[in-house]
Amino acid sequence: MHHWRIGAVKITRIVESIDTFDPALMLPGVTAPSVAAMDWLIPHFADERGRIRLAIQALVVETPTKLVVIDTCVGNERTGRGLPHWNNLQTRFLEDFAAAGFDRSAVDVVFCTHLHSDHVGWNTMKAGDAWVPTFPNARYLLNRDEYEPWRATPDDPGRDAVLADSIAPVQDAGLLDLIGLDHVICPEIALVSTPGHTPGHASVRITSQGQTAMISGDFIHHPCQMATPELPQGADSDRALAATTRRETLEALAGQDILLIGTHFAPPTAGHVHRAADAFRFQAAAPQTVGEDEGLG
Ligand SMILES: [Zn+2]
Repeated sequence: MHHWRIGAVKITRIVESIDTFDPALMLPGVTAPSVAAMDWLIPHFADERGRIRLAIQALVVETPTKLVVIDTCVGNERTGRGLPHWNNLQTRFLEDFAAAGFDRSAVDVVFCTHLHSDHVGWNTMKAGDAWVPTFPNARYLLNRDEYEPWRATPDDPGRDAVLADSIAPVQDAGLLDLIGLDHVICPEIALVSTPGHTPGHASVRITSQGQTAMISGDFIHHPCQMATPELPQGADSDRALAATTRRETLEALAGQDILLIGTHFAPPTAGHVHRAADAFRFQAAAPQTVGEDEGLG
């Protein structure tokens, strides 16, 4: 499945990479045996050994008036990233973006949920020795409350590299808008504050013709976190706030007819949150319930 329909809005997934690994590498307190015991995660989100499966992907939102890209993955040819395997990628992301029927120059808006390097990479692309905006006619929106504290962090080589190759070229081209989360992109899209993973982290709510979806960003990375929302993700900047945000957001989704599209959830990526014991679990959405069209992208 490549996309979902929410009323008059179509949301398409462009996958950059999918990896399978030990949950303890990114979810302190979560073990492979504890994941293997959650049979509702297998086979899509974990394997029988309890290794978790994670995707890095962009979500393209087509409304009647706007073409919007939510998060832009790691990008090709990066250097200086904190995770060594994110350096010097050579993926087919741009080819896949085009094969899905999209024209880079037709994108109206790019919104990055936060400034970690796996969410801003394809803001730019290499042209000769220079970094240029991948989406030359888009407005690139960043939450001011994310950008300012991030930019003020001194002497962080990882952040400096991201600023240099993924943000500054967009700013230099005059395409960057620092916004508040009350910013209106179009009637169907709302930005929702979900802080804790980073100071100004935001998720995205899509509403059309009585249907609703939410694009998570990194308030949650993997469905296994629904069983223990209080446990941190390794990169949470404020673990207590992230835990509160995770539980409250899941509480608001639980039992509702709201399609949660997980920014890092492996295919099938989308589904519904249900209450389970004193926490939650995830039910992946069957394609026919989310309006899948085959054959596009
Ligand atoms: Zn991420």
